[in-house]
Amino acid sequence: MDARLNLFGLSRDALRGVAASLGEPAYRGDQLYRWLYLKRARSTSDMTDLPKAVRAKIDADYTLRWPTVAERSQSFDGTVKYLFRLDDGATIESVYIPESTRRTICISTQAGCPLKCAFCLTGIAGYKRNLRVDEILGQVATVMTESPPRQQGWNVVVMGMGEPLLNYDATVAALRVLMDPEGFAVAPRKLTLSTVGILPALEKLMQEPVRPNLAISLHAPNASLRRELMPIEARYALPDVIAAAQRYPNPRGGLVTYEYVMLRGVNDRPEHARELVRLLKGRRGKVNLIPLNPAREIPFGAPTASAVDAFCRILADAHVTVSVRRPRGQDILAACGQLHLQERARPAVSIPS
Ligand code: SAH
Repeated sequence: MDARLNLFGLSRDALRGVAASLGEPAYRGDQLYRWLYLKRARSTSDMTDLPKAVRAKIDADYTLRWPTVAERSQSFDGTVKYLFRLDDGATIESVYIPESTRRTICISTQAGCPLKCAFCLTGIAGYKRNLRVDEILGQVATVMTESPPRQQGWNVVVMGMGEPLLNYDATVAALRVLMDPEGFAVAPRKLTLSTVGILPALEKLMQEPVRPNLAISLHAPNASLRRELMPIEARYALPDVIAAAQRYPNPRGGLVTYEYVMLRGVNDRPEHARELVRLLKGRRGKVNLIPLNPAREIPFGAPTASAVDAFCRILADAHVTVSVRRPRGQDILAACGQLHLQERARPAVSIPS
């Protein structure tokens, strides 16, 4: 393996340090920063405003590496799922979701997930490790570079594999570069972080000078049902999570999103909707209903269309802002909760038919 240090993933300050260590002025670090993230150079040979001698000095000590794409699967609806293989063999997934008015990249922050929510395949597949900054940003760089040029602006959602607030430092370092106008230049209101509500980390995120939108994985209208579905409820309780979310300063005064995965017969009945209304009444926020994306390994069923409609209407009639998430890429297991190191499910040796 290449023992040289990877430049990709370094902060602006770190890149200024790299410049200094090569006997170059600090502005060379800023040039590098723009090449890496704004222009997404693949090697120093792209960096045309750096003298050849400087590029050679950089190449002697540093490389520029993105995670390796092991597989791409395309859905009938245009969604593309990327499987990346990392240096240590861990695999992660990202999803490209084209829509009429925007296009979205969904990224992972951990290989696997330790939270074990009862309805999510990522948790069922287990937990391997936190991702590094270069592994998080490399997903965005790869998908942006490979996608066909289109007019629509980019949205990034931190809603892939893993719990971002359990990998706080790398996630926040990546968010800073994503939102930096000289980095990936994604506007904060086009960036959303989804979390179950790891409270100490959420408090820290609020202190960041520039923050993404916040989405909270709620999934139940009361603590006892939430605890059955999400073991983390025992640690960070529903009322505290909502109280913290209410204080979260979204970009441009936007509303916090409460995500609610609907499970047939479990949390999708009218009484659950009414309980959710009572829970959120008088609070700022919007509810995003996510009909379960079923899978063989998940012990729950999808709600019926009429259950979703009825649930939605109860919220809307009570003046709770509500939307329903349309599943994307279900046929390639790229929809919410379906990212799960699919490779393992396949036999190691292909069986001739
Ligand atoms: N750990 C964070 C980030 C992952 S986001 C979080 O939980 O918020 C993944 C989103 O997909 C969450 O809202 C999650 O609850 C939802 N999800 C998980 N499994 C799902 C499934 N089978 N069907 C639909 N949505 C699912």
